[in-house]
Amino acid sequence: MLFAFFVADFYTRCNIGVMNAPHNIYIHVPFCISKCNYCAFFSRACANPDWESYAKKIITEIKHWHDILGRISVPTIFFGGGTPSLLPTKIFAKIINATYENFNLLDNAEITIEANPKTLDMVRLREFCDAGANRVSIGVQSFDDEKLLFLGRAHNADDARRLIDIAMSQIKNVSADFIYGLPSDTVDDVIKTCDAINRIGLSHCSMYELTIEPNTPFGKMNLQMPSNETMAEMYMAIAKTLKLNRYEVSNYAVDGAECRHNQNVWDGAPYIGIGDGAAGRILIDNMWYEQMGDGKLFESLSDSARATERVITGMRTRRGVFVDDAIKKIIDIEFAKSNPDVIEFRPDNRIRATDAGILILDNLIERLVK
Ligand code: SF4
Repeated sequence: MLFAFFVADFYTRCNIGVMNAPHNIYIHVPFCISKCNYCAFFSRACANPDWESYAKKIITEIKHWHDILGRISVPTIFFGGGTPSLLPTKIFAKIINATYENFNLLDNAEITIEANPKTLDMVRLREFCDAGANRVSIGVQSFDDEKLLFLGRAHNADDARRLIDIAMSQIKNVSADFIYGLPSDTVDDVIKTCDAINRIGLSHCSMYELTIEPNTPFGKMNLQMPSNETMAEMYMAIAKTLKLNRYEVSNYAVDGAECRHNQNVWDGAPYIGIGDGAAGRILIDNMWYEQMGDGKLFESLSDSARATERVITGMRTRRGVFVDDAIKKIIDIEFAKSNPDVIEFRPDNRIRATDAGILILDNLIERLVK
């Protein structure tokens, strides 16, 4: 009964006559060729799902958000997974068309698709681009076949190199994901990977430390991981070796090649999560809502909860957090001012973690937020 009242009240307050703020869109595709040994993402091994019905579900959600938010502007769309590059390109085009029909997809909108090297060739990549994709993020993880096997990846290093070459010949914005800190990894291994990235000339990459999640094959294997000190050495070696700038804890790019979708989200801009397992933060009438699952579950977020989220994501970035009234209320400014070795005040009224601060980020945020 209470929920019914809440929903009715919510719809009354969604005045689609008033233009709502631009929202970024995240679309989740939860299917993969096989499940990797470290993966705790919402995804399952199913290379040939019923794409028509999944597309129908996504398009229904797109229309649902149009009914709630109106014809909002959309600066970015990010197809994540799972493995979105498994999508038949006609289905991808159908989803993009649905976003055009329901929203004002900006002329310079960034449209990213995550790709597994086993799923794309030149023809299919071209078709994704013709349908609107203008950024591809390739899950490479390693250039070493033994490490790829250990991780349970469905591709080898040649597959990954081939797709990087193809993508760089077709699209300006190409990124690749890598994982470091495997039990067998040394600092030298990590430096070699960074040297390879430099030689290839990637303009963007993400370097993720391997974390062991409980409900994964790795979680049950009692792996001997590198010590915290070695992990920190690897992390520092990455920043030193890559010819790219770190703009977030795990993300590196040449200036101008940063992922706009993620930057917007980290900066606190609203975004809609579409598809199974997706989540979003919706802004209506200056009220924030947490949105999860199939797009129909909402919970309003207090100003302080939303400000805390902005600190948690913003402090991970080089851009930092814009210190507005909501942020001032939830952070300990005196603590920030008295610790210039780990927190830096920027002339544009932002605070950010220094290089030393990044290394102790979780503790730092815990201390910073009152
Ligand atoms: S491809 Fe990505 S989402 Fe799929 S199982 Fe592997 S890590 Fe998880």
